[in-house]
Amino acid sequence: MRTMESAFSDPEICLGLLRRIRSELSAPMRFMELCGTHTAAVYRSGLHSLLPETLTHLSGPGCPVCVTHDREIAACLQLAGKDGISLACFGDMMRIPGPGGMSLGKAGAEGADVEVVYSPLDALRLAAERLDRTVVFLGIGFETTAPASAATVLRAAEQGVNNFALFSMHKLVPPSIEALLADGNSGGIDAFLLPGHVSAVLGTAPYRFIAEKYGKPGVIAGFEPADILLSLLLLIRMREEGRADVLNSYGRAVSDEGNARARALADSVFKPVDALWRGLGLIPRSGWALREEYARYDARARFVPDLPEVPENPACRCGDMLRGRIAPHDCPLFGKKCTPTAPAGPCMVSAEGSCAAAFRYGVAGRDE
Ligand code: SF4
Repeated sequence: MRTMESAFSDPEICLGLLRRIRSELSAPMRFMELCGTHTAAVYRSGLHSLLPETLTHLSGPGCPVCVTHDREIAACLQLAGKDGISLACFGDMMRIPGPGGMSLGKAGAEGADVEVVYSPLDALRLAAERLDRTVVFLGIGFETTAPASAATVLRAAEQGVNNFALFSMHKLVPPSIEALLADGNSGGIDAFLLPGHVSAVLGTAPYRFIAEKYGKPGVIAGFEPADILLSLLLLIRMREEGRADVLNSYGRAVSDEGNARARALADSVFKPVDALWRGLGLIPRSGWALREEYARYDARARFVPDLPEVPENPACRCGDMLRGRIAPHDCPLFGKKCTPTAPAGPCMVSAEGSCAAAFRYGVAGRDE
């Protein structure tokens, strides 16, 4: 029996949508996706090569590892060197190259106490086992992962665990879209493929400004090939009709209201603050910091109140890619001095980074 998900990867359905895209697209269009899962799906499914050449795929700031700023990585490395501190983080964080090529993985190999965990709750468990140390969880990710970090801080408070802290690098997606649109140097974005997971939390309203203020269309999309193709067709139709709106083509997972409980949970622990994004710089109210009542769990305020100043690596073009200015093959390091086993930039680290996806699926440089 065919499931609903398999229908969304049915070759006949996908080919039909591709034919419609080819026949209805009358002028070049550049679309940006803002979700690492979309990045990987576009490359893995072969869509990147199958789409018309006049429909340009841009990979925006949607991979949590990729958007983490050099100064945040430098702060994590500082923390790793402090006495009495154990770091807990997701695996990809270990491989992000920081200043001087240093990474948390290398710091661990040199004796720092850095452990890979699968959730912030794992870090809290670690704290309960290591009462002689402060366990700091390095929190990255967007509206989807911040509620889990918030719930862990609340659990620590309930259980009276005082040797746990959160280093919040959590970020909010809509302010990054606004920064891209307000920046005349970003890559000429005509339309947005909006993230499915983040939208399951946010709903549709936080994206309205894309159409109302900037006159660009956006479609919330699922992750199967037909989800992506249908969403692209909707974007093309809006563009062809000279219409800008925000539509939801992922109704089986995203409601207009989103997940109010998850938002309330994050809002009860975090407050919005200005945050640094790789490639985009400081974006107002685009990050999450712990509220004053949870200050004792705030590793940032307690241990690294000011992010260290570090020189940018001039060879790394990840920042340009996150702004839609270049594609993976435009970076001279791609596949030569930067590969998944020896990444020179974060977009080659995570499986959801566009360079890693382009490398892994052997995509030729047709997007150049
Ligand atoms: S090839 Fe490496 S350095 Fe260049 S943009 Fe990609 S990840 Fe960054």
